[in-house]
Amino acid sequence: MRELKVELGERSYPIYIGEGLLGNLATYLDQHKLSKVSPMLIITDSSVAPLHLSKVMDALQQGGYSAASYVVPAGEKSKSLAVLEDIVTAALENGLDRKSAILALGGGVVGDLAGFAAASFMRGIRFVQIPTTILAHDSSVGGKVAVNHPMAKNIIGAFHQPELVLFDISILTTLPIRQVRNGLSEVVKHGLIWDASFAQWCDDNADKLLSLDTEALQYALYQGCRIKAIVVSQDERENDLRAILNLGHTIGHALEAVAGYSELLHGEAISIGMVGAAKLAQQFGYSPEIHSETKRIFEKLGLPVTIPAHMDTDLIISAMMHDKKFKEGTMAFIIPMEIGKVEIRKDVTVDQVRKVVESLKGEA
Ligand code: NAD
Repeated sequence: MRELKVELGERSYPIYIGEGLLGNLATYLDQHKLSKVSPMLIITDSSVAPLHLSKVMDALQQGGYSAASYVVPAGEKSKSLAVLEDIVTAALENGLDRKSAILALGGGVVGDLAGFAAASFMRGIRFVQIPTTILAHDSSVGGKVAVNHPMAKNIIGAFHQPELVLFDISILTTLPIRQVRNGLSEVVKHGLIWDASFAQWCDDNADKLLSLDTEALQYALYQGCRIKAIVVSQDERENDLRAILNLGHTIGHALEAVAGYSELLHGEAISIGMVGAAKLAQQFGYSPEIHSETKRIFEKLGLPVTIPAHMDTDLIISAMMHDKKFKEGTMAFIIPMEIGKVEIRKDVTVDQVRKVVESLKGEA
């Protein structure tokens, strides 16, 4: 088992990563003094519930906790105000109070949604993240919680840090391979923005990661969480440094919005976005090798590196204009200067981005 801490003063919390941790869920909750008197609410989704919910309920019951569960439909559409209201209804019906906690058992969708429910119910109650996807190593660290508005993703949200994150990697064995690849995209991102040797390690161990080798997975999740925790600890509210976590996201979010959230998953969209950012880097005088290396790693992981030809460039560009990172005529972009090091540029023009989008389509 590996453990690390997100250092945020009185809001600091630990992340536990290991195999079979859920069996000891109650012990972890005891250590963090969660209430056994006030009921808890587990939020999970319709794909995770049949696979893993009973295990969690049993562990809580055996440990003397009283818990109810609420299952939302699997998928991005559940990150909505309507589903949030359903969760609040379930919380009221099950008698949650100020000392209660919400447990998020799921991927990034459940984590963001349940986290926002915890941030807003009674002006904020405690919550625990139990991530069930590889991608959720990213979404469960850092306290950004949100739901979507039909016009913009993650636009209704809060910063609300969990009490703890319990990452039981045994739960990842039921993930479909597409979701494995999807999550590895964010893992590699952490290497690309911060740690060249970790990016190299991901490259060398791609096959082990894809086959969910326990040791490799545990190490990769630990490194991904460690890098995210360092960045978040230095800039919790994204005033500056935290923006580097958005490598690949400006193009990625636009692609998700234009393609629809089922054609391209988040990790797939930002894989293309990171290749795009590496291409953009050449326009600022950085080595073409950054692009070829970035593209090669993502191809090795079976992730997309080109924009589907049917997607309209104008629509992609206009989706970027709606991105909350677009400010006053120029675009803020995270640009790789070398593998493992990025800069935040605020002077990227729409024309430069258009050129890159066109070239990413041309390579298809
Ligand atoms: P997801 O939560 O939709 O999970 C992907 C799919 O896998 C779903 O169908 C889910 O039901 C299924 N699933 C989950 N765990 C499973 C398991 N163990 N076995 C079998 N199936 C399982 O998607 P995701 O990729 O985990 O997360 C994407 C979301 O995360 C997006 O909404 C994105 O905006 C958000 N996100 C948030 C942050 C943040 O900092 N808050 C960071 C990155 C991404």
